Amino acid sequence: MNARISAIREHRNDDKTINHYNGKKVTALFAANVFTNKAMREWLSDEAYKSLSASAKNGSRLDRKMADQIASGMKAWAEEKGVTHFTHWFQPLTGTTAEKHDSFFTIKSDGTAIELFDGDSLIQQEPDASSFPNGGIRATFEARGYTAWDPSSPAFIMETGFGKTLCIPTIFIAYSGESLDNKAPLLKSIAALNKAAVDVCQYFDKNVTKVTATLGWEQEYFLVDEAMANARPDLVMCGRTLIGHSPAKGQQLEDHYFGSIPERFFAFMQDFEQESYKLGIPLRTRHNEVAPGQFECAPIFEEVNIAVDHNSLLMDVMARVGKRHKLKVLLHEKPFAGVNGSGKHNNWSLATDTGVNLLAPGKTPRTNLMFLTFFVNTIKAVHDHADLLRASIASAGNDHRLGANEAPPAIISAYIGSYLSKVLDEVEVRVKDKFDEQDEAILKLDIHKQIPELLQDNTDRNRTSPFAFTGNKFEFRAVGSSANCAGPMTVLNTIVAQTLKSFKAEVDALIEKGEKKEIAILHILRNSINASKNIRFEGDNYSEEWAAEAATRGLSNFKTTPIALDAYVSEASKKLFISNGIFTEREMEARHEIMLEEYVKKVQIEARILGYLATNHVLPAAIQYQNTLIANIRGLKELEIGDSSYKAQLHLLKVVSQHIQAINDKVEEMIEHRKVANNTEDMHSRAIQYCDNVKACFEIIRYHSDKLELIVQDSLWPLPKYREMLFLR
Ligand code: ADP
Ligand code: MG
Repeated sequence: MNARISAIREHRNDDKTINHYNGKKVTALFAANVFTNKAMREWLSDEAYKSLSASAKNGSRLDRKMADQIASGMKAWAEEKGVTHFTHWFQPLTGTTAEKHDSFFTIKSDGTAIELFDGDSLIQQEPDASSFPNGGIRATFEARGYTAWDPSSPAFIMETGFGKTLCIPTIFIAYSGESLDNKAPLLKSIAALNKAAVDVCQYFDKNVTKVTATLGWEQEYFLVDEAMANARPDLVMCGRTLIGHSPAKGQQLEDHYFGSIPERFFAFMQDFEQESYKLGIPLRTRHNEVAPGQFECAPIFEEVNIAVDHNSLLMDVMARVGKRHKLKVLLHEKPFAGVNGSGKHNNWSLATDTGVNLLAPGKTPRTNLMFLTFFVNTIKAVHDHADLLRASIASAGNDHRLGANEAPPAIISAYIGSYLSKVLDEVEVRVKDKFDEQDEAILKLDIHKQIPELLQDNTDRNRTSPFAFTGNKFEFRAVGSSANCAGPMTVLNTIVAQTLKSFKAEVDALIEKGEKKEIAILHILRNSINASKNIRFEGDNYSEEWAAEAATRGLSNFKTTPIALDAYVSEASKKLFISNGIFTEREMEARHEIMLEEYVKKVQIEARILGYLATNHVLPAAIQYQNTLIANIRGLKELEIGDSSYKAQLHLLKVVSQHIQAINDKVEEMIEHRKVANNTEDMHSRAIQYCDNVKACFEIIRYHSDKLELIVQDSLWPLPKYREMLFLR
């Protein structure tokens, strides 16, 4: 029996896993495993509590004595919950999360055993940096790296089976100070944005002392039976299928979207939701997505740093809980050809410590001007740094999705809806170069008279835009489903910070010349609206007309990762990142190298697996079928009942043989391309070769293999078919 047939037999849809809610309310579970403010109050001395909450709020340093006290309180809290080990939890540039567990247990000099967790262990650890990507930083500097506590994200307890581990969120940096992770630059971008946005807020409200970016992500994913997935080396090794014919019934009936969730998957969802709640991840929605076997979940938005941590945690939790239910969770952007891929919409906004959402239209002319200021500056930022935004979502996986008529294209544009378009047009036309009392009238623009619901409805209609305003936030829709949100969020925070800074400088210059504040603001906004006009697009982003129009507008359309990533190291980006204190030049080059290398590795692994599948799975099945045909033709010939008796078989045999030959030739060609690419020293050109030459063979191998899948006797086919993976549940 081949692997596929036994997988179909093994496939289980009788999930006996009990309902994990057990009648409990979510509020009874929520953040049970998080060292929350409440837990801090309970387990820390007054002094330690105060210094920890201060440093969580404004990043101030903790002294050693305080750290010892906090560590001991944290340990007591964790031990009461059965924790034995702790780890610094961080997000290296591998796209996953990393942990290295240490026991509280230690032996004193006199030989007695104790459990210990001191300030030093809390604040800093030294995992071996050499096994994480560092883009050559290791070669020139020390190999060592260390993790440092980020008090702005709370510690939590991870339950794995029966084990419980205290996790300390940390940043990961090289011994020489360069960041080697996703979080350190994110925190820097948050600080830059805070400074720039608070400064601009002062025009409108002197009480604002802090502005934070908020993020609400929507996570799409596929679920596949574990037995089926295990019978597919491509799913196991690459997270996507490299071959496989689309099923007779795909998503064309659109009967899956928002349909009822199959019971087995529902059990899984409840289970991972419960685990997430304990970790303080505020999940809110769950539903089926467009494709069969595809789902989505989304939390209530949070401060961006916490939201990023929570998304990384969630991806981890989902994979682990999936195992309990014998399900493989696919976070890849395009697990199945011809079936919709998965994204991760990043809903982003700005919130003040006075409780105002800066991207929500206000109720008075003054707050409206504030809204317009942040709204227009965000659009201007997208316009000025579109290539960088595109780079921030580039990955081998996302290349399959962007521009494939199911996700926003690789062209960055912003959608704001017809109502706000009109508002911006009006500002642009009515504010004249010479300042006059007309301007005062514009200040009274009645944006707020539109009821918010209408605004929401009005802006939410265009689902094809990569960057859409949706009433009180922007939704960056082109982010890939497996991405760490930190990348795109760091870029977005930074470009908006930079744009706000320039805006403020220009407004101040006008004010200095004696212009009234509001008028000065309006005039600079007018200029920004005018300058950023060509990034605004209200039509269908999936259409070919848009690609053509975008080209005439001069907008970039970088379809592949190796090229899209160039923007990370352009002169403009270097200036932007360095002047805002996000990256040094060295860090940028290291990151660029790491991302190219990751791309190369991904395509390389896919190429190897595809070659292996073609040679060890597809060809043997086809040859076996070929033999059946040959024996049959021979038998018929012997009977001497005429040529016509085996005409069809002969034809089939020819077709099968042609496909076999074509696969064989392409696999050989692919291997040759790989050799040449591997011998190319420069990572940029190696990545381009992998993209243009190696990956180009994939489609052809796949084409012939998929044809064979349709022809070869079903019982001989070794790999679970699409219909089995997507429809058996
Ligand atoms: P849709 O699927 O229609 O885009 P959802 O309700 O599924 O909408 O997702 C909207 C997401 O946007 C949620 O995660 C929500 O928390 C988030 N969100 C709402 N307001 C804000 C905000 N001010 N800042 C950031 N995210 C927000
Ligand atoms: Mg959405």
